[in-house]
Amino acid sequence: MNIHEYQAKAVLKEFGVPVSRGVAVLKASDAGAAAKELGGPLWVVKSQIHAGGRGKGKFKEAEAGEKGGVRLAKSVKEVESFVAQMLGKTLVTAQTGPAGKQVNRIYLEEGANIAKEFYLSLLVDRSTSRVAFVVSTEGGMEIEEVAHHASDKIVTFSVDPVTGALPHHGRIVAKTLGLAGDLADQAEALTARLYAAFVAKDMAMLEINPLIVSAEGRLKCLDAKISFDANALYRHPEILALRDETEEDPKEIEASKHDLSYVALDGAIGCMVNGAGLAMATMDIIKLYGAEPANFLDVGGGATKDKVSAAFKIITADPQVKGILVNIFGGIMKCDVIAEGVIAAVKEVGLEVPLVVRLEGTNVDIGKKIIADSRLNVISADDLDDAAQKIVNAVGKA
Ligand code: ADP
Ligand code: MG
Repeated sequence: MNIHEYQAKAVLKEFGVPVSRGVAVLKASDAGAAAKELGGPLWVVKSQIHAGGRGKGKFKEAEAGEKGGVRLAKSVKEVESFVAQMLGKTLVTAQTGPAGKQVNRIYLEEGANIAKEFYLSLLVDRSTSRVAFVVSTEGGMEIEEVAHHASDKIVTFSVDPVTGALPHHGRIVAKTLGLAGDLADQAEALTARLYAAFVAKDMAMLEINPLIVSAEGRLKCLDAKISFDANALYRHPEILALRDETEEDPKEIEASKHDLSYVALDGAIGCMVNGAGLAMATMDIIKLYGAEPANFLDVGGGATKDKVSAAFKIITADPQVKGILVNIFGGIMKCDVIAEGVIAAVKEVGLEVPLVVRLEGTNVDIGKKIIADSRLNVISADDLDDAAQKIVNAVGKA
């Protein structure tokens, strides 16, 4: 689960991590008061969306200006006008995709005097089963770019969970960033605090880009992006309360309500499959025959008719879906249950795209008979290969 920058900074602040003062603004009419509360003389008006690259992003609407989603303001008046321009508008960045994201919240922050910009992140490194730090002097730009063009400028190390962050980890950070004296001490303290926050809150990723040295000689986190391990959220109701569902894919929210494993993708073929492995294989074979899957969907082992029906509705509600492939291997799952669920959903929401169904395993004959008796326009397939070819032929290649 992701949260907004201003929420991430509030979480980090609890752990003593240095961040700028700021106020979240949800209504344009609150902008002036917020600006006065902060005091100036320099403010930064920051669009809050769950995507990076806001500074270099562009709004779709011309009246929001071409200046991007993070703007410096030099007066209360300017703050008010930038907030009014950004709220409700759609910001397109390198990370949002062409559709962009609507800006519903603004974070108004005191402007910092930036002397240097660095990059620092923490993430769970699966290969070492540890929390790893990624540190670079090349801040303020995308770390993926740095990795391509100047990978020698990126230093990574991981922390033994038994000892936790130790002073020498802080010294690696300071040395990598070329910091000495008091700034090196600040880097050491920051390293320990970020690690403590990461572990205490069960984060999956914590990215500070940029981490800055201010003209006053202070190390500060100017941006913060956090994603949390969804499996640990039950331990953190205070984090769960920060969830902003308007930032998430409505299809994925609906799927999670029905306990379905669903991930929205960009292709045209909706997939309903039981078992994660079979779902992956189904996506692979769709690609092999030249089309792209619209989603990953695992209905699980013991799905009920209602669950299958809910899954089918999520797939058909996606306007990108030009054809559907149902691929079920009935083990614990029974083919007749799948057939009944699909038919119940089709009767309710209709079927406007080609549907290929491949059933195999427990109660396959009953399942096939239910579909045949329904007189729905279903193309049946004998095996996975046959099913994939039939749906790709019906929909066309990507
Ligand atoms: P994003 O990464 O989404 O573009 P950032 O929060 O990193 O958003 O902001 C983009 C740039 O704007 C930063 O690299 C920094 O140069 C500048 N910036 C952000 N916050 C402040 C601030 N409080 N004071 C001064 N400059 C800022
Ligand atoms: Mg940033």
